[in-house]
Amino acid sequence: MKKGTISRRHFLKLVGGAAAAGTMVGVLPAAAKQAVSQFEPYVIPPEEALPGQANWYASLCRMCPAGCGIMVRTINGRAKKIEGNPAFPLNQGKLCARGQAGLQTLYNPDRLKNAVRQTGGRGSRQFEPLYWDEALTAVLDKLETTDPAKIAFFAGVMPDSLYYLVSQWLESIGAPPPIQYDLLAALNGRAVSIQAAETLFGSGQQPAYDIANADVVFSFGANFAETWLSPVAYNLGYGDFRGQSGGRGFFVQFEPRMSATAAAADQWVPVRPGSEGLVALALGRIIVEERLGRSGTFAQTFAGMYRGIDVETVAGASNISADRLNELAHILADADQPVVIPGGYAAGQTNGYASYLAIQSLNLILSRLGRSGGVHLSSSPPAESLVTAPSPNSFADVQALIEQMQAGEVEMLFVHGANPVYELPQTAGFKEALAKVPMVVSFSSFVDETAVQSDLILPDNTYLESWGYQIPSPGADRPAVANQQPVVERLYDTRSTGSVILELAQQVGGAAAEALPWASERLFMEDVTGALFHSSLSPYDANTAAEFWAAFRQYGGWWAHRELRQEPEPVGFENKPLPVPAPRFDGEPGEYPFFFYPYPNVNLSDGRGANLPWLQEAPDPMTTARWNTWVEINPETAHKYGLENNDVVKLISPHGEIEAVVVEYPGIRPDVLAVPVGQGHEDYGRYAEKRGSNPMDLLGTATDPDSGALAWGAVRVRLEHTGKTHKLARLENIHGEGREKLT
Ligand code: SF4
Repeated sequence: MKKGTISRRHFLKLVGGAAAAGTMVGVLPAAAKQAVSQFEPYVIPPEEALPGQANWYASLCRMCPAGCGIMVRTINGRAKKIEGNPAFPLNQGKLCARGQAGLQTLYNPDRLKNAVRQTGGRGSRQFEPLYWDEALTAVLDKLETTDPAKIAFFAGVMPDSLYYLVSQWLESIGAPPPIQYDLLAALNGRAVSIQAAETLFGSGQQPAYDIANADVVFSFGANFAETWLSPVAYNLGYGDFRGQSGGRGFFVQFEPRMSATAAAADQWVPVRPGSEGLVALALGRIIVEERLGRSGTFAQTFAGMYRGIDVETVAGASNISADRLNELAHILADADQPVVIPGGYAAGQTNGYASYLAIQSLNLILSRLGRSGGVHLSSSPPAESLVTAPSPNSFADVQALIEQMQAGEVEMLFVHGANPVYELPQTAGFKEALAKVPMVVSFSSFVDETAVQSDLILPDNTYLESWGYQIPSPGADRPAVANQQPVVERLYDTRSTGSVILELAQQVGGAAAEALPWASERLFMEDVTGALFHSSLSPYDANTAAEFWAAFRQYGGWWAHRELRQEPEPVGFENKPLPVPAPRFDGEPGEYPFFFYPYPNVNLSDGRGANLPWLQEAPDPMTTARWNTWVEINPETAHKYGLENNDVVKLISPHGEIEAVVVEYPGIRPDVLAVPVGQGHEDYGRYAEKRGSNPMDLLGTATDPDSGALAWGAVRVRLEHTGKTHKLARLENIHGEGREKLT
């Protein structure tokens, strides 16, 4: 066995006693087709399944786009428990609450159980069941008469395998490429981060920050303890960072609100919204001017980037005193292995892209590119056959699509893995534009707000019932591919969207059938991952392609058996001033005195978790609140307005208004109001509907002109009493007085 590789025996040991007692298997053989109402797990059980004995299947978590490896425990053909895959290098056996809650997606009582057509007109919520042949015929009939240029595919951040199939299919029929956009990606600054990397490093790979080996971490709004990009992987890194033999590391979080990440920091700096990039420039200015500490050779080479930066001016704009900026610059420059992270909140401003460049430039002048404890790039795909999804689209791209829809230039719209009617600001006009599209096809597993505005719903399988692959981005410390496979027979008469695309391609024929020649997703997977068999970096031994395919499924994918990081090249830095424009906000301060901070909820994410009761019930780590929408208000502000916990207030922006329950929260600037995203669904099942408010209703369509990103942090609001109170369900209050009676 090669050094760093894993044997089957070692892998069984890793997954623990329960798994070792069970049987590691890679794939379920075909079972007899079950009637829709048949709830016995197996008619003909797979040969490895024995009554009462656990089988563990390695697969991929799809509860967010991070790409963690999972192990699913099944008994009698039912998935019982999800754990992290200990062998997968990204998450190393760990899993977040959302990953654990994936079972409730599978067993959710509100799942669509078959394809449906909306019969009473869009929004009627009257559906009739369709046989799949009928549903696909309806799609094919419309495709046949539609100009391919007028077909659009709107998706959330797709797994790479689905992007492969969808993009190839669209290209083969002459349709435009898919638009990938979802709210979590926007709140995380996923696309802005890649755009900045393209400019600075000449690479479209997502930067990855080696927190584990850093001794000082400065994070500008990267809430990696909760939802930022790859929270499980970064939490693992944070654990190593704190456990270093040379000390516990020093961590500074710049953020207007104390998130769980800020609470774990040594210093929380409640920076003024939109001034993050300016603060980075001031730190850089101090470092190069004073030739501080261990700042690298790049520091003087690129000193021109900070020309004209006045630290006192930045102090005024950021509410961080010049002395404090000076102290922070010394902490950063004196460290042996510092790393600086630009995060989601910095990206959500009208100057977000410029701020990213300024923040990333600190890693350059400190010589942290490609170094242990520094910034790296996610690995390129380890085989050419493994197509990866590009950066998500910008909000400006979405606006362009909406304009096309409004102008009648879209005749057929497919929607997958996103809920734009809920996730986009109402002011964007997506829902109104949908009315101009003659045929809307949703692939949602649930009747969500966008599915309600569709003609056909072709429900996707859950990720526990279907095939796929994903190359994590940001990646691990080595190239890795996660394998997704069915761990149970599909429960209902649903179909994976990938298999629907393959079938449509075969039915359309010609170039489409040639581009997607596979008879099933399983054959597609076996084909495109097969190139990895020849890699010398493989973590397991396989003598034949068939053995490799079995091992790929058995271990949950493929990864290099040793660390192999990709170093960023500083190709895009110039020795000239980095301009960070002043942020702009909708609403005059006189009328709207507060900055508004909508943040992704650690449990509900961007709203996609709101239909799962485990996630509704799980308390927010900072306020312990759940099952509702609350607004975090500094006690000083609350006192000024005569407010206290459980008062219901109205938040009003120039674009809309919502109601929320007051939570007095000391960990927030007095001029900022923060509201978690995720509630306020009109549709999306019994656990999500008619609960709380959607903070996106307060947003306008302001964008960062440099990146086209939605400037979701660029709105101001005011507060009004409603005279109502509502006892918020909280595990305990923030003053630690113990459990309250829950309502
Ligand atoms: S971080 Fe994302 S992919 Fe990883 S376990 Fe959590 S939800 Fe799943």
